[in-house]
Amino acid sequence: MIITESKKIDEILKAIGDKKNVFLVGCGECSTTCKTGGEPELLAIKGELESKGKAVTGYCIPNAPCVAPQVLTAFAKNRKAVEDADIILVLACGLGAQSVKEMSRFNKPVKIGCNTMFMGATDKKGDFYELCSACGACVLSDVGVAICPVTRCPKGLLNGPCGGVNKGKCEVDKECDCAWALIYEGLSKSGNLDYLIEIQKPKDYSKQIKPHKRIMNK
Ligand code: SF4
Ligand code: SF4
Repeated sequence: MIITESKKIDEILKAIGDKKNVFLVGCGECSTTCKTGGEPELLAIKGELESKGKAVTGYCIPNAPCVAPQVLTAFAKNRKAVEDADIILVLACGLGAQSVKEMSRFNKPVKIGCNTMFMGATDKKGDFYELCSACGACVLSDVGVAICPVTRCPKGLLNGPCGGVNKGKCEVDKECDCAWALIYEGLSKSGNLDYLIEIQKPKDYSKQIKPHKRIMNK
């Protein structure tokens, strides 16, 4: 899931500038879960914009605005409201906003109301944690336990821990468990400490050259 946070209203208003009529686009998946782009957040921003003299011509919440056909369908259903708008405000991640820009045939400026933070998983309490940074060459199997050192160790060490680990906590963030302490614990519990004997080779960072793409339809 893509984790987002809401931008402050002042920043959103600055981005909208002197445009008056705004069409809102939310996201029915990630941003709804993050409480940044579901219906309650769209209605809240609608109220804030209207209190500042703007008019909201309408809104839509595609399940996933990063999926092109969903944007096309949502805009087709809301054609008049989009046509009446001077500007489109997307309450979703950067993927959603750029997908809306690419798919919009209305030639309206597209602005974003969220900051995209990271790719994360939700724990039982509903908090979000970054567990994978899409490095393109997954080492989870090599580590021997499904804990990612590339992401969960701030230094991205493939052979750890570093000398800064203290009572199982990370020296960079003392509130945080050391990823390598967790890996050791996991391997120990499963009787797989042999995984630590092998020195992992340096990571192939060429896989991280951006922008990535995966062509499915030639
Ligand atoms: S090694 Fe870590 S960052 Fe890379 S793909 Fe696997 S889980 Fe994601
Ligand atoms: S203490 Fe552990 S998690 Fe923190 S930087 Fe060192 S090896 Fe990585």
